[in-house]
Amino acid sequence: MEMSNLYIVGTPIGNMEDMSFRAVKTLQSVDAILCEDTRVTRKLLERYEINKPTISYHSQSKISKIDHIIEMLSEGKSLALVSDAGTPTISDPGSFLISKIREELPETLFVPIPGPTALATALSASGFPSSDFLFLGFLPHKKGRQTIFKEIGETERTVVFYESPHRFIKTLESLKEVIAPKRKIAVARELTKIYEEIKVGTVPEIFKYYEENPDKIRGEFVIIVSVA
Ligand code: SAM
Repeated sequence: MEMSNLYIVGTPIGNMEDMSFRAVKTLQSVDAILCEDTRVTRKLLERYEINKPTISYHSQSKISKIDHIIEMLSEGKSLALVSDAGTPTISDPGSFLISKIREELPETLFVPIPGPTALATALSASGFPSSDFLFLGFLPHKKGRQTIFKEIGETERTVVFYESPHRFIKTLESLKEVIAPKRKIAVARELTKIYEEIKVGTVPEIFKYYEENPDKIRGEFVIIVSVA
């Protein structure tokens, strides 16, 4: 059995120029690229003139797809895993696949190629303490939502999470109920893209801003709550 490599490759979160040299070189070198949505990744590959076969791998992929990937690796093929944006497995598919490969093909070499991730990008510009923070991914929509807000209200850590524009106002309302009025939050929207916007203020201040600018409740959001 040949030694196989799986590269876990970070890709841009909006601005295509945030692709690293190493990411490009890696994608040029592998036998195939596992993509969350092949159409999304194709655009990136075209931009960097990377001509490699793509294989779709997403959260709904069946176990037979994983078996196929493991078979390719066991034949000595080298593969790269990317997601639609940012770092694979960060609120994105891939960790189950990686754990399966670790179990079934432990001799595989896993090589992470670091790249952008929305949580670190947002945190870096917030000015909030970031040596000790809690990342919650997407908050639950129903079950456990109350509990998580209670925890956010009580923690003495900076808290980072992802949010969609549809739930943004509802989430601000929930935050208002649990956090001290002077505690600041940051809303990082459309990072690295044309309409990038980072707003920092208390929840009432942020509320007021979005009430006055409802057209800005669109795109992709990271919300950060400062320490208590
Ligand atoms: N793997 C990605 C990463 O490394 O950040 C996260 C993927 S997750 C499915 C998508 C969510 O990440 C979005 O709904 C948004 O909350 C956040 N996100 C991704 N890109 C963003 C951007 N350019 N600006 C703000 N938030 C972003």
